[in-house]
Amino acid sequence: MYTPPLARLVEELSKLPGIGPKTAQRLAFHLLKVPPEEAQSLARAIVEAREKISYCRRCFNFSEEELCEFCADARRDPALICVVERPQDIVAVERTGEFRGLYHVLGGAISPIDGIGPEELRIRELLERVRRDGVREVIIATNPRVEGEATAMYLANLLKPLGVRATRIASGLPVGGDLEYADEVTLGRALKGRHDL
Ligand SMILES: [Zn+2]
Repeated sequence: MYTPPLARLVEELSKLPGIGPKTAQRLAFHLLKVPPEEAQSLARAIVEAREKISYCRRCFNFSEEELCEFCADARRDPALICVVERPQDIVAVERTGEFRGLYHVLGGAISPIDGIGPEELRIRELLERVRRDGVREVIIATNPRVEGEATAMYLANLLKPLGVRATRIASGLPVGGDLEYADEVTLGRALKGRHDL
């Protein structure tokens, strides 16, 4: 149906999340039409991002350096940690302008059906940080889904014996939605209205 290099491009694009075969075809034909520099620039951006970006060794956000921009910022409060599922959730929380602490990226939520147990997430690393860094409060901002709520309860039970305050962002976010899609006003309110677990 396609000449081999085009077939390969369509195949690679269709592996991306949310890109079905039709969209992959549309993108591939588009890339063949744009000036060569534009296509090269996209290819370089992909390669460069993958080569340069790794995980922050403290919070597991994506970072070019050993410590991400938040962990390296001395003006942020290290005694306050906001726990999120994925790095893109940090972007959502930052957009609210309501949070001046540090983050911890779990790498997902507990989901037995998908084979994700607590040991697949960066929970041990979170507990180590809490013990080591004199953390006062952990705000659990996992997504308002069944898995996110279960993860929040699980974490609260581990955190409370350590003498740290464990709080959960307020409801008001659309249930089943992700932080990523919440508007900053709603998410800002959810942060301010957090309650103890
Ligand atoms: Zn970090």
